[in-house]
Amino acid sequence: MTDARPRPLPAIAGLAPYRQGKIALDDVAQPLKLSSNESMLGPSPRALEAYRALASDLQLYPDGSQSALRAAIGEVHGIDPDRIVCGNGSDELIQLLIRTYAGPGDDVVLSQYSFAMAFVHSIAQGANAISVAEPGLRPDVDGLLAALTPNTRMVVLASPNNPVGQYLPRDELTRLHAGLPGDVILLLDSAYADYVDAPDYEAGAALVGAHDNVVMTRTFSKLYGLAGLRIGWMYAPRAIIDMVQRIRTPFNGNAAALAAAEAAVRDVDYAAMVRAENNAELARIAKALDLAGIEVIPSSANFYLVRFPAAGRDPEGAAHYLEARGIIPRPVSAGGPEAALRISVGRPHQNDRVIQTLMDYMAS
Ligand SMILES: *Cc1c(COP(=O)(O)O)cnc(C)c1O
Repeated sequence: MTDARPRPLPAIAGLAPYRQGKIALDDVAQPLKLSSNESMLGPSPRALEAYRALASDLQLYPDGSQSALRAAIGEVHGIDPDRIVCGNGSDELIQLLIRTYAGPGDDVVLSQYSFAMAFVHSIAQGANAISVAEPGLRPDVDGLLAALTPNTRMVVLASPNNPVGQYLPRDELTRLHAGLPGDVILLLDSAYADYVDAPDYEAGAALVGAHDNVVMTRTFSKLYGLAGLRIGWMYAPRAIIDMVQRIRTPFNGNAAALAAAEAAVRDVDYAAMVRAENNAELARIAKALDLAGIEVIPSSANFYLVRFPAAGRDPEGAAHYLEARGIIPRPVSAGGPEAALRISVGRPHQNDRVIQTLMDYMAS
């Protein structure tokens, strides 16, 4: 007998456990869960059909080359399928990229409101995860550039960001890229790109196409309504694809996910319908809540951030009030020390319920 016991890497032992948004309420059988930016419209019927058809072939390994899904993404987005890799959610792809390019002592610069797991993956590599504030509630180009050191390997940002929903306009993105040395990767997490129809938005494909150090990640978890299947994709320069492929496990995209995502991305009419409903609802919700004295931060995603300027009203009280009435929001700390609530956009009748409940809270 000795006192010896397994020793985790210190960087990993120092991490806080991940906390998912609330998924259930004690007293409500079927709560309206608006805490995780899931699509209330669900996936395209064609994606469901492809998923069900797969059930008769579950004994087969998936296509490790992911060629059918990559070809479909390439066609729909007008990009080279050879420069696409798919993964178990964009989360896995972000992890693979960080593992490929950042090691002990390297710096990974992360904009404040980017994907929480990018911090975790960086720290797990032994890299320094350097967070740069977003004082204007969207990535701050000057702040990101000021954080660069000779050790910086990667700059990570989400546009639209989360939990705010604001994007970095194209000219600012171009300015950020122009300020980066060629050996620093710009990772654009464009998880919410599918919702944005603003003319000055750039999801990243044009930059990836034109430079050797830009990578864009996308997901089927949000607009495409396939969060439960876990499937996302990365578009990157050939040299980066080549390296990431060396550590990708061959069957990281499961067969059902590959099939459903292929059908989903090809169903452009369904995607357009989801985008149109989401964006019309966002505008309607913002107007109604504004009239009720609630501050809604402008969003280009499938969620919105609310704050409560009125005396005696606050996010915590609002969260309790909503939860007591069967609605689950996500309390977040974005936009200063005072917390806010992030709420997913639902179907029109669900949004009506949120609006009415928040109006009641303001009047209570
Ligand atoms: C939801 C989300 C993702 C998507 O993650 P998946 O692993 O593809 O489900 C990525 N980045 C941000 C900022 C998100 O909010």
